[in-house]
Amino acid sequence: MYLHQLNLWHFRNYTEQAITFNGNQTILLGDNAQGKSNLLEAILLLATLHSPRSQRDGDLIQFQQETARIQAQVIRQPDPAELSLILRASGRRTPAVNQQTQRRQMDFLGYLRTVFFSCLDLELVRGGPGQRRDWLDQTLVQLEPLYSQLLQDYQRVIRQRNALLRQETVTPAHLTPWNDLLIQTGTRLIRRRFRLLERLVPLAQTWHQRISQALEVLAISYAPCVPVLANENEAIREQFQHQLTAKLPAELAQKTTLVGPHRDEVHFGLNGHPARTYASQGQQRTLVLALKLAELELLETVLGETPVLLLDDVLAELDLKRQQQLLTVISERVQTIITTTDLERFYPPWLQAAQQFQVVQGQ
Ligand code: ATP
Ligand code: MG
Repeated sequence: MYLHQLNLWHFRNYTEQAITFNGNQTILLGDNAQGKSNLLEAILLLATLHSPRSQRDGDLIQFQQETARIQAQVIRQPDPAELSLILRASGRRTPAVNQQTQRRQMDFLGYLRTVFFSCLDLELVRGGPGQRRDWLDQTLVQLEPLYSQLLQDYQRVIRQRNALLRQETVTPAHLTPWNDLLIQTGTRLIRRRFRLLERLVPLAQTWHQRISQALEVLAISYAPCVPVLANENEAIREQFQHQLTAKLPAELAQKTTLVGPHRDEVHFGLNGHPARTYASQGQQRTLVLALKLAELELLETVLGETPVLLLDDVLAELDLKRQQQLLTVISERVQTIITTTDLERFYPPWLQAAQQFQVVQGQ
């Protein structure tokens, strides 16, 4: 998959801009607040219909304008596709593929796939367990669109069971049918997360070895709220039931569901220590980068297409050796778009090969 052309109209600080990409390596160079991240955000919107920075479409539209439009030509098998997304301050969106408006989000998604990495992703290491669960969920949604449905079903069960727990008159018998639903939907999530990590962890470890030049050892372990020894329905359900029985008094006292994948955790360890408290800035970056590259490789294997890699200002804290490991391996076969504020500490061979754009005030 190759992003060949991108056109923006009234998107953020871009009034009207056309960009044609050449080769697999692109650098967006510019001072702060010029529009580098905005450009990556536009690409990401076409790939995911989601912005990591804004909940409101009004934020994405250029000041004083009513609508914004993003359009792209994507070269892919079997046919190229023209994607277009119109954004309105009201929140109403018009996504189109080859000039055909798509009513359902899932019919628009999948024509362009990206793996995006910005400073916000460092929260994966530094932040709370919710960040890591979101990461598992987002990755699973990309691999298997059905997962978003399973997740919604599970969240509904949790909401309804919590509402019941908040009622003064609730008894264990009232909870029984909800326990069954919780176990049924929760087991589906746990099994998928288990399987995802089983596939992702060895890939992440290999990437991590490469980038850190085998100086560091990465460990990733899934710590589901329900102990899982094997990825089997019966084993998980049994444990689930067991935990629910044990936690019943606490659930009644706290009036909330305390057992299930909404309380899962993923532990990252570096050289035998918890990464969250042990890792340096560069080590945290290396860790998240390894996760992202593993995600890219897994998407590639499962979907048979190579996503576009978007790196927003994340190279600055990697030393040249780490940059080299990353950039030589990746850019030979993956379209990679990198933003940076200066080229001074940029890996030299990449500088020579890459297409460079200077971004100045939305141009
Ligand atoms: P940095 O190096 O600091 O990350 P950047 O080049 O990535 O900078 P962006 O985040 O792409 O910067 O662009 C930020 C600029 O876009 C800001 O000056 C901001 O005021 C402007 N901007 C954001 N939203 C809008 C909008 N809706 N309309 C016009 N300008 C906007
Ligand atoms: Mg930026």
